[in-house]
Amino acid sequence: MLRFLGRGSAFCNDNNCAFFAQNSRLVLLDCPMSAFHKLKTIGADALTGCKTEKITVLVTHSHSDHTGGIGMLVHFCYYVMHIPVEIIAPSSAVKDKLRFLLKELDGCREEGYTLISADEMQTGFTPVPTIHSPELAGQCFGWCFEIDGTRVVYTGDTATLDTFKDVLTDGAYLYTETASFDSAVHLRLNVLKEMLPELEKRGIKVYLMHLDDEDKIAKALPDVKFAPLYE
Ligand SMILES: [Zn+2]
Ligand SMILES: [Zn+2]
Repeated sequence: MLRFLGRGSAFCNDNNCAFFAQNSRLVLLDCPMSAFHKLKTIGADALTGCKTEKITVLVTHSHSDHTGGIGMLVHFCYYVMHIPVEIIAPSSAVKDKLRFLLKELDGCREEGYTLISADEMQTGFTPVPTIHSPELAGQCFGWCFEIDGTRVVYTGDTATLDTFKDVLTDGAYLYTETASFDSAVHLRLNVLKEMLPELEKRGIKVYLMHLDDEDKIAKALPDVKFAPLYE
């Protein structure tokens, strides 16, 4: 399903970023600067397996380990790759922030990108509001969508899986964050651990992402797969 250009949390070198290809379109889930560097090095065509004609970025929330590379991606696609970038915000409030980032801070050429909010038009991607940073209350989301008829649920940064229960259907692929460091803003290892038998019973395939300490997490959850990195 998804592959990753990084699966680290905020203070890691390779911040979390997933991707998949829809024909000649490359879809990224968030775009930290580390993911932009990897994309540039690997080449978008290697990621899509064909001549890439468009890049879409689904944004979960505005923390810089999720949005820090979007401006550079827009510049690069405009000046070097000559392909359009479409940025899909999960809400109009997040869209306004991204507009400020791209237009006022990064000075991106307006003809180089489109910025839309998922509530403005049908995109095929459904934002799922969740709980993460209190400073960004109401502006943190995961995404739900289908790849070849299979449901994919991507939590983004979340303190809970309860907010995803309506979209987490039997047999879905769940990409969820977890953290070994105990905090109120990330999904605690023990909370996830308690939910695993039920998820497994329902045929939900769990992949861990946005990880702060892979060794600790692997010891605590030895049977759960890490999100697959693009190698
Ligand atoms: Zn994060
Ligand atoms: Zn965050």
